[in-house]
Amino acid sequence: MQRSEILIIDDDPSICRFVARVCRDSGFEAIERTDCADIETVLQSSRLKLIVTDLQMPDCDGIELMRLLAGVRTDVPVAIFSGFDPRAPNTAEAFGRSIGLQIVETLQKPLSVAALKRLFRGAGDQVVLAPEEELQRAIRNHEVRLHFQPKVSFRAEDFGRVVGFEGLARWHHPVQGVISPDRFIPLAESSGLIGELTDDLIQYGLEQVAEWQRNGETWSLAINISPHILEDRGLADRIAQLAARAGVEPSRITLEITESGAMADPTRTMEILTRLRLKGFKLSIDDFGTGFSSLVQLYNLPFSELKIDKSFVMDIDDREEAQVIVRTLIDLAHNLSLQACAEGVETMAEWSQLLDYGCDRIQGYFAGRPMPAEDIPAWAEEWETRSKSITDMDRQRAAADG
Ligand code: C2E
Ligand code: CA
Ligand code: CA
Repeated sequence: MQRSEILIIDDDPSICRFVARVCRDSGFEAIERTDCADIETVLQSSRLKLIVTDLQMPDCDGIELMRLLAGVRTDVPVAIFSGFDPRAPNTAEAFGRSIGLQIVETLQKPLSVAALKRLFRGAGDQVVLAPEEELQRAIRNHEVRLHFQPKVSFRAEDFGRVVGFEGLARWHHPVQGVISPDRFIPLAESSGLIGELTDDLIQYGLEQVAEWQRNGETWSLAINISPHILEDRGLADRIAQLAARAGVEPSRITLEITESGAMADPTRTMEILTRLRLKGFKLSIDDFGTGFSSLVQLYNLPFSELKIDKSFVMDIDDREEAQVIVRTLIDLAHNLSLQACAEGVETMAEWSQLLDYGCDRIQGYFAGRPMPAEDIPAWAEEWETRSKSITDMDRQRAAADG
């Protein structure tokens, strides 16, 4: 039997050889390339299962290389090596995804055998190409569950308080462990399973909110809605029914819709979104700044929150352009009476800057990573203490500034 192939691109031959060895040990055939010359030919192979690449190649830059890959193959997952600033690959990942590449991981150099082995194990499982039946089985077995990432308030009246959580899908696979949504949501969308999956996750999310309510917490929950189900005219009624059955007020539920999803067919989207809004659900426009909505559309659609994409937030401490964009988006949100939520906040510096800009709430690893429901109480207790010391630091900073 012919072995599956992994394409390794790095201008340093010793790195290529090292990765190729781990690759062969993992049962794959390694194709090594130290320049971009004949990559297009290699990409034609039907046995190709994964591309691992350095983005700093002497003969073509990272953007060119990603465009080249996306031009030929978008069905093969891509992992990126990064040797420098840990922020740069995030931007590269975002760019890669925006042109249709399936970026599965960014590996920090120096590379470790363990990290490579884990990556190659993932390539063997072919989840990206998993048959629909596998995903269907998983949905019916409730293997896909939400993890919850906190959203924290920046407004004076409840500064530092947890306002709610965003539910992010994780597939708890019996053999492969936890699989991230980028690796199965596209499959759910293309195979028509996304409706069933979303219904199951909403049901699960509502059960959590009901439990929070029983414990006296006022937290809300945000759920991601794929553009593919925004065409479903029954959506609003179904969610309303599920909420009523769980005893949850619709105002506790926010539906996050990506900018590009909401704007694809604004007239049709408007009908469904308006119905959801009339039933009392909140709507949030996700990944704002990465799509191409016109202000008129934004004005016409009934949103209550605007989420600023993490690709801008992550650059605000060192790029002036990112600062300008983030401030402009916060002002835009406020002028349209929307709450501004910045996502991807990882550092105290970003936190303080967003506070100065008048952002209403933040989400990101700095406050907390997405976590399973059972971890929330311990996290909330720890946050209570940590948020106080952060507030003190902010006060001292404000006093020192002026
Ligand atoms: P998103 O809605 O923009 O979600 C935010 C993503 O950023 C999440 O990735 C989250 O884990 C990550 N993130 C949060 N804070 C930070 C941070 O401080 N630094 C960095 N580097 N990343 C941060 P995740 O969970 O892998 O989700 C990826 C995307 O998959 C989501 O992007 C969303 O578009 C989609 N998705 C997730 N769950 C669902 C779902 O239930 N239904 C649908 N339709 N899509 C989902
Ligand atoms: Ca989201
Ligand atoms: Ca987002």
